Amino acid sequence: MKSCNKCNIIKDLNEFSNNKRNKDGLDHFCKSCISLKNKTSYKDNKQKHSEKRKEYYLKNKERENLKAKNYYESNKKEILENNKKYVDRNKEKTKEYQKEYHNSEKYKEYKLKNSEKIKLYDREYRQRPEIKERINKQKVERAKIEKFKILYINLPFLLEAQYQTILDVTDLRNQRKLKRF
Ligand SMILES: [Zn+2]
Repeated sequence: MKSCNKCNIIKDLNEFSNNKRNKDGLDHFCKSCISLKNKTSYKDNKQKHSEKRKEYYLKNKERENLKAKNYYESNKKEILENNKKYVDRNKEKTKEYQKEYHNSEKYKEYKLKNSEKIKLYDREYRQRPEIKERINKQKVERAKIEKFKILYINLPFLLEAQYQTILDVTDLRNQRKLKRF
């Protein structure tokens, strides 16, 4: 048994990681204290980093926007593929997260308090030319997918029909050839 220097709880030896630098070959802090410390410092670092990043962005907004736009334009295919892969990989997670959020009291409260604002925002959002265009594009894409689905379902029959036509044409040609002789 050993007492943790952080939480002061006396714990079993296997609750401490190995550390060759210490006399007893074990860490001074227990595993849960270390893990907590790592988590907090990771969060702190992440927050610091994102704050700095945001500050930099706000200072160089125009240039950064242009840079991002150029990057997107020249790597569109790859970015879209990666996004799709990410969504596919995290579909359950994303769905779960969204569901969780939409069922949360926080969201319900927000919705109740801001229903007019949300409606207005939604209407304005849909009126934006680029969004209108996107919605229309989505409609066209969806229609295409529906068409494709029908085609896909009918594909074996279509192929068979096509094959039959080829056979018929070849047959006709052969018959013509025979007639010539
Ligand atoms: Zn501890």
